[in-house]
Amino acid sequence: MTETSHSHEPILSIDGLYKSFGPVTAVDHVSLDIRKNEFFALLGPSGCGKTTLLRMLAGFETPTGGRILLEGKDISALPPERRPLNLMFQSYALFPHMTVAKNLAYGLEMDRLPKDEIARRIEEIMAVTDLAQFAGRKPDQLSGGQRQRVALARALVKRPKVLLLDEPLGALDKKLRERMQLELKRLQHEVGITFIIVTHDQEEALVMADRMAILKDGKLLQCGSPEEVYETPADRFVANFIGVMNFIEGTVSQDGHFVAESLNIKVSTEIRGLATLAVRPENITVTAGGAGCEGKIVDMAYHGLDRVLHVRIAASETPLQVRVPANAAVPHTIGDTIHVAIDPDRTRLFKN
Ligand code: ADP
Ligand code: MG
Repeated sequence: MTETSHSHEPILSIDGLYKSFGPVTAVDHVSLDIRKNEFFALLGPSGCGKTTLLRMLAGFETPTGGRILLEGKDISALPPERRPLNLMFQSYALFPHMTVAKNLAYGLEMDRLPKDEIARRIEEIMAVTDLAQFAGRKPDQLSGGQRQRVALARALVKRPKVLLLDEPLGALDKKLRERMQLELKRLQHEVGITFIIVTHDQEEALVMADRMAILKDGKLLQCGSPEEVYETPADRFVANFIGVMNFIEGTVSQDGHFVAESLNIKVSTEIRGLATLAVRPENITVTAGGAGCEGKIVDMAYHGLDRVLHVRIAASETPLQVRVPANAAVPHTIGDTIHVAIDPDRTRLFKN
């Protein structure tokens, strides 16, 4: 296994992929290119079709329509065992009566690889996944995180071209999950295999992915790097789903300026009529001397590095969330009247 750099060459092309279960459309004409060696995340709320999409890639579900191309070759009709893709199940599915080493060897023995090749591969993957010391243990003698690593090692030892992971960290507690997020990323880098990971956790996707796709009701809403999706969400759903976003309803004037009650902001747009301005908490500042828009602090939350002020303004029913450094020189308290300014260049406008 060698470390290879990213390329824009797609390893996997998903072309108009479609799946319906009777009246339910689980995956709705999704087209996507996954690049070689990238860590790609499929993100969306429960029921949006993530698992169905992954199962079609792995060959466990037959598409109703569309094609799956691996390195340019249509693999849509191949059975799972003939696809150079490996799906790691959420439930790990380890053999309880076998040691870690035996669990890892199983798939390779089934493939009738020579004994010394099997031994070599197992040693190599145990080193990469930090499992050497557990080689002789059985799954019930391991912690949740260690079991997860065994499942991962077992999927990787077969050297698939693409590893598919369906909510791989879902069963772990928060602390361990955060550690495994970084570990997975390191591992992916080390083995140089393309990873496609499914998650419903937007933070997890932002932390791990080189690029991500956001799905809703089976439809692909946006595909891009975490930065692109966070900074320029394609629509209101994505804007709301990724990170924290404030929404302010308003109208666009004849000359193309967004107007909302006493907001005092200059944003020009091609949109006409009713519109919604979206702005992140970190793109609003508390101003001195009455510049910007007046508001009243109705709530405050301390997050260590920063503080989030909930500020009621005339233009919005929901208080604005404003992120300020926790050590800000001017201390604020609930009930204070302050002024806030929105950075017009860091806003998005959506047509209502
Ligand atoms: P996710 O993994 O994003 O939570 P799924 O792919 O599991 O979503 O499901 C997408 C939709 O397809 C849901 O409405 C689900 O109920 C439906 N679905 C999934 N599998 C089946 C099936 N085997 N039979 C009928 N409906 C299914
Ligand atoms: Mg699922």
